[in-house]
Amino acid sequence: MSSTAGILADAFDVFLLDVDGVVRVGADILPGARAAVDRLRNLGKTIRFVTNDPRPRRSEVFGELAAEGMAGSPAEVCTVGWTTGKVLKRLAVRSALVLGTAGLLADIAAACPDLRVNDGGPYDVVVMGYADTITARQLDEAAGWIAQGARFLATNTDPSFPTQKGRALGTGAVVAALQAATGQRPVVVGKPSPPLFEEATRGLDPRARVVVIGDSPATDVAGAHRMGYAAVLVADQPPTFAVAEDPRRPEATIRSLEDLFRPGTLTPRPRLGFPWPEAILPGVAAVVFDAQGRVLLVQRRDTGQWGLPSGHVEAGETVAAAVVREVAEETGLAVDIDRLVGVYSDPPSQVFAYPSGPVVHFVTCCFACRVRGGALRPDERETTAVGFFEITRLPENLLPMHPRWLADALTTTPTVWVR
Ligand SMILES: [Mg+2]
Repeated sequence: MSSTAGILADAFDVFLLDVDGVVRVGADILPGARAAVDRLRNLGKTIRFVTNDPRPRRSEVFGELAAEGMAGSPAEVCTVGWTTGKVLKRLAVRSALVLGTAGLLADIAAACPDLRVNDGGPYDVVVMGYADTITARQLDEAAGWIAQGARFLATNTDPSFPTQKGRALGTGAVVAALQAATGQRPVVVGKPSPPLFEEATRGLDPRARVVVIGDSPATDVAGAHRMGYAAVLVADQPPTFAVAEDPRRPEATIRSLEDLFRPGTLTPRPRLGFPWPEAILPGVAAVVFDAQGRVLLVQRRDTGQWGLPSGHVEAGETVAAAVVREVAEETGLAVDIDRLVGVYSDPPSQVFAYPSGPVVHFVTCCFACRVRGGALRPDERETTAVGFFEITRLPENLLPMHPRWLADALTTTPTVWVR
């Protein structure tokens, strides 16, 4: 994918152009943007204007860009409010509390004509967008419905956005208020989450080389990489990152869209090879042998797989306390820590997607433990069976990494296996 001979634009077929900060700031089209878009069009490139701004209707953004000679058709414009309508339609919900502008409400109504919106409830889903008229009373109502089990959808989580006068309060700030009040994480429609990008590329040739061009490493660049797309950052200076794998590191940095037509070099990045983690948790696992040298295993209720007793560190808890607690909860046994077996981080095998929760990457401390007391019994919530197994006769469907932890526990040197 490295291109030294040609211009940068040659490396891609589909250009997902972030609107705010790349095409325009406020209402002002940035210098060179119109000429650059014309040139991409003349080269036969596919263009999509994507924006995380949840306030305007898609038709408004199209009208504004068309008036500036930028957008050629409404299909080229993909707003997060319009995408939210598509997402709600797929969820097949019947009622929604929507906090946002008239534009957001209109795009949702167009996508979901049968959806009851803001009619007093009860609500299947709370949609958090942004409007400068949102009140604490409305947030309180939204938090109440989420607490009662309504799904929680956020158009986007940008904490602020650029204006001619500097940065202004964004959706992410009010989403954070709802998260704080409810302890619930929303499903996010906009960048860096997939739905907006998925909608922007719907129907395009899957072999097309897609690039996201944006001004935010955290949303545009990381979101592109989460989708497997390339990313070009618009910034005065290339950002520096401590490690090459940082998902916020773009393949190239340009000062404006005009630079797409200059020779440039792309720094390719390795494929992730695992689902994008929404949370990273400190994990604990225990290797517990009985007097006969058999190892303690539990069968997990959610997947049916067998594994060592394991879980994660809760707030306010030490790592040592966490592993003792997990063994007690999952097996009924009281244990003492003998020694550290190893510290493990291997995203391809330690990123888990739970049906009802976030995608989590565990960084796990594994300990060898001795039984102090208690009696074996499965934990009703998490495990269906528990028992000691001969090392030579382990169940077949063991969780990934667990055989390695067990093997390392049979040696005496702590292992550090992190990547
Ligand atoms: Mg931007």
